[in-house]
Amino acid sequence: MPETISTTPRTLDAVIVGAGFAGLYQLLRLRRAGFSAQVIEAGDGVGGTWYWNRYPGARCDIESMEYQYGFDPELPLEWNWSERYATQPEILRYVNHVADKFDLRKDVTFETRVTSANFDEATNRWLVETDKDDRYSARFCIMATGCLSSFQVPKFPGLDSFEGDWYHTGAWPHEGVDFTGKTVGVIGTGSSGIQSIPQIAKQAKHLTVFQRTANFSVPAHNGPIDETYKQSLLRDYPAFRKVARESASGIVRAPAQLRALDVSPEERDHEYQMRWEIGGFALGGAFIDLGINIEANETAAEFVRNKIRATVNDPTTAELLCPKDYPFATKRLCVDTEYFETYNRENVQLVDVKNNPVTSITPTGLKLADGAEYAFDVIVFATGFDAMTGALSKIDIRGRNGIKLTDKWEAGPRTYLGLQIAGFPNLFTITGPGSPSVLTNMIVSIEQHVDWITDCLEYLREHEVGTIEATTEAEDQWVEHVNFVADQTLYTRANSWYIGANVPGKPRVFMPYIGGLNMYSKKCEKVAEAGYEGFALDAKEPVGTR
Ligand SMILES: Cc1cc2nc3c(=O)[nH]c(=O)nc-3n(C[C@H](O)[C@H](O)[C@H](O)COP(=O)(O)OP(=O)(O)OC[C@H]3O[C@@H](n4cnc5c(N)ncnc54)[C@H](O)[C@@H]3O)c2cc1C
Repeated sequence: MPETISTTPRTLDAVIVGAGFAGLYQLLRLRRAGFSAQVIEAGDGVGGTWYWNRYPGARCDIESMEYQYGFDPELPLEWNWSERYATQPEILRYVNHVADKFDLRKDVTFETRVTSANFDEATNRWLVETDKDDRYSARFCIMATGCLSSFQVPKFPGLDSFEGDWYHTGAWPHEGVDFTGKTVGVIGTGSSGIQSIPQIAKQAKHLTVFQRTANFSVPAHNGPIDETYKQSLLRDYPAFRKVARESASGIVRAPAQLRALDVSPEERDHEYQMRWEIGGFALGGAFIDLGINIEANETAAEFVRNKIRATVNDPTTAELLCPKDYPFATKRLCVDTEYFETYNRENVQLVDVKNNPVTSITPTGLKLADGAEYAFDVIVFATGFDAMTGALSKIDIRGRNGIKLTDKWEAGPRTYLGLQIAGFPNLFTITGPGSPSVLTNMIVSIEQHVDWITDCLEYLREHEVGTIEATTEAEDQWVEHVNFVADQTLYTRANSWYIGANVPGKPRVFMPYIGGLNMYSKKCEKVAEAGYEGFALDAKEPVGTR
């Protein structure tokens, strides 16, 4: 008998798409609140970012003691981070530990990609379909699809003809790649390039790095975690986490008090030097005016450029590595281990492709606009992601009247609080565009969103509400506010992935909310306390009915 495909969808309270930090925590919260939920994940394991990005050198750039879940007081006590900035394998082990501890995998369908989600106005339910022909009918659809999960391979002609091996850092082979004795080309010098280049250089026979945009990068000064610091946090981790949640960036640090231009050049450099020695993002928070005043910003920019000049032996290479055409830290600040030092190696060459771009991939390597050709055994694309909207755009999401999300977002994403989209009732986006997300410690922002969404669903159940939907008016006002705040800063002056500039044809809109996690969370709380102000609540087919 031929196999028949079941057409009856599985009925659930919620479908959660994605099993990274966001999807797993959302599953746990819904389960504890008594909702039925299923996670659908494209990969064959949990971890999201840390499942996919297995390239050499991959690690967090927010310190491990902060880049972990905070919802469970036991977790920080039972997991002993080995380094200030944990490696990808360690973070992946941690996520798996969390999945084991709370028995989460039993409600995750792996190796399955959600292909469409359609809102049925007759029943107030989402019909979710996958590439395995599974069908789900769910009251709520929660997108935990990740801000940086849709990796981007540039559409160079000839890629199919390449006779060597090629990889993207965001979809690295599980078995790893051995570069020993190989001639390697790395395209891209963003965060993933900056982390992987020093590691690849140590193995490869020769490495050529193709740079379109130089990036500001600060040394991590990675190493063991200071035991006194660690114990001071572990004495009361929930209290520490509360401070993180009430901060602008989800990272606990004393906020800057002074303006860069109000102090003498010596005091300024002293402050920069002190923060350079701490390493990581500390430098970005040196003065309160770095993000808003171009002259102040230039003092920090020049401090970093001078560090690059002092590190890289060849002056021409050093100048090429100095970012000059956008303000300091307005593209994601990179955190590195011996990145600039790598250019002093004899087997490493830097090629500027800003005005002489890669035009094609050839069977043996690649070709630039001026006709220069390079031969490689391996090409690594460290070319980043279609950030914030990419994973959502790949799913055929249709709301009321069959309206497609990609059509609604043709001129850029529009959301209310980065949580909901007018016309798409009962659909939630964790760390969606219009929320602080990628400008913060993301696990803190993820927890804030998951807690808000779960509270919201409980409220709907308690008040016998069928649908919640952002009103167009609230959405318009929020989008205007997000843009207004971004325009007060220097961030809009950089061609960054925050504005979609790395994806050809993507509308240029500053996507994350830059007003700070603290201000943002207060707004979310106020909205909820006011009975979900700015959202339309409809009693038809209340939650709990099938
Ligand atoms: C290399 C790298 C380093 C980073 N370092 C830091 C850091 O130090 N600090 C920080 O705050 N943030 C960092 N980030 C950001 C990081 O993405 C977040 O911190 C966090 O891991 C995001 O979790 P998430 O669950 O929201 O999304 P993800 O971890 O991206 O998970 C989303 C999941 O959804 C799945 N998915 C997407 N679409 C579908 C679909 N249609 N069907 C089924 N499954 C789907 C994906 O397969 C993926 O597993 C880093 C990102 C990268 C790429």
